[in-house]
Amino acid sequence: MNGNLFSRFDAVFSEYAEQVCLRLPDGTGWTYNDLHRATGRIGAVLRQQGVRPGDRVVVQVPKTPDAIALYLATLQVGAVYVPLNTDYTEAEVAYFLGDAEPSLYVTAEDSETGLPTLTLDAYGEGSLKELASSMNPDDHIVDCSREDLAAILYTSGTTGRSKGAMLTHGNLTSNADTLISYWGWRSDDVLLHALPIYHVHGLFVASHCVLLTGSSMIFLPRFDVEEVVHHLSSSTVLMGVPTFYTRLLRSSRFTSEVAAGIRLFVSGSAPLTEQTFEAFVQRTGHRILERYGMSETGMNTSNPLDGERVAGTVGFPLPGVDARVANEEGDPLPVGEIGGIEVRGPNVFSGYWRMPEKTRDEFRHDGYFMTGDMGIVDAEGRYSIVGREKDLVISGGLNVYPKEIEILIDTVPGVIESAVVGVPHPDFGEAVIAVVASEMDIELEDVNVVLTGKLARFKQPKRLLRVEELPRNAMGKVQKNVLRELCADRFTWDE
Ligand code: AMP
Repeated sequence: MNGNLFSRFDAVFSEYAEQVCLRLPDGTGWTYNDLHRATGRIGAVLRQQGVRPGDRVVVQVPKTPDAIALYLATLQVGAVYVPLNTDYTEAEVAYFLGDAEPSLYVTAEDSETGLPTLTLDAYGEGSLKELASSMNPDDHIVDCSREDLAAILYTSGTTGRSKGAMLTHGNLTSNADTLISYWGWRSDDVLLHALPIYHVHGLFVASHCVLLTGSSMIFLPRFDVEEVVHHLSSSTVLMGVPTFYTRLLRSSRFTSEVAAGIRLFVSGSAPLTEQTFEAFVQRTGHRILERYGMSETGMNTSNPLDGERVAGTVGFPLPGVDARVANEEGDPLPVGEIGGIEVRGPNVFSGYWRMPEKTRDEFRHDGYFMTGDMGIVDAEGRYSIVGREKDLVISGGLNVYPKEIEILIDTVPGVIESAVVGVPHPDFGEAVIAVVASEMDIELEDVNVVLTGKLARFKQPKRLLRVEELPRNAMGKVQKNVLRELCADRFTWDE
């Protein structure tokens, strides 16, 4: 049997040929047949350009149906899809091109890279789309094993070199199948797709659930609150990052009526606060389903579809995924103790591209991958994330978990959200600083009044910085590295 994930899409293309698969905001749409043909034509161009099985195709293009066809065509010809964040600058792209050594680079605008390069659909001659328009769709699907590479996702690492997580056809197929069954995916589902498609969430989790079940997606170029509110009443599922939900809650047009037809709101890629979860229940009656995953592993844990969804937790390991909370040696810790989250299963990537040592460092001998996230598991087996290991603050030799403090600061009247970081301190090594987004002026004393009695003194912030809003990346993750830089020299001269 062909292990190429594309052969699974191909079966759906035939079965649902006349169904609409992509609905666009202008009211037009693509059927599965349209997507099939566009993919076959692009596949023919890729072959004509000399792209061979195992070759990398690096792609930095806006979110359009053609970009989905390009992804699928890359799988079809057995090549490795390498999507890049559309915000990356030329200099950043140059690093990825040097590292991935693609046989083709597809971009939005003409650029001089010294590599075979095509624009996707820029007007003018020689774009990939123009070349595709004169091709006959190529139906051949390259034979792959489940261990063959399907994609490389560069991690959004904030320190050091960005690493390319190598994902196989087996990784992507198994995770998609698991999610489709765990979340009860149906062919009459309509996904409201407002995520970027250069990332695991929008490209794999969201698109695969749709394209492997013959369902459809309303394909928005980006998240825009008004657009999303407008399309919610014709959708059944929304997959979002937490900022989608906080922004929806800020819109008075987002009401329980608007959300009435949705069967599932999913959140991930960054922590959903309990406040947002509860406010969402109050407004709509819906309990957002939070799940946890990463580029290297796809999805690892999820709150249940039918059982209790508990705010502040990321649920249970998905079927087939082994998870544990372990100490530094990799020994499982008892319930309720904080440690490193480690996972193993068919979803876990095969290693970092051309970084064998880094790969070896992050896997245990028994096959578990050290995610770099710190967490806790309760007696029922539910996981909660307390933050990234590198965000742990060590003050005076004692561990401080930022989440523990952030949860309490968020209860201070007027606080919208907060982020706790550690910065260099001459006495303590690191000191705790709280960065707070608030509606009104908040003083350190206001915060510490709430924390006193609940938190040991060494965990209480020594400084407070008020900001309009926390810096986040496109996936809604708070950029703690930016905050650390901002606060880096707060204690070097005056404490
Ligand atoms: P990425 O590889 O860009 O998808 O980032 C993965 C990281 O996002 C994980 O290692 C976690 O630190 C974080 N993450 C993903 N989902 C959640 C979640 N539900 N709660 C908290 N952090 C999350």
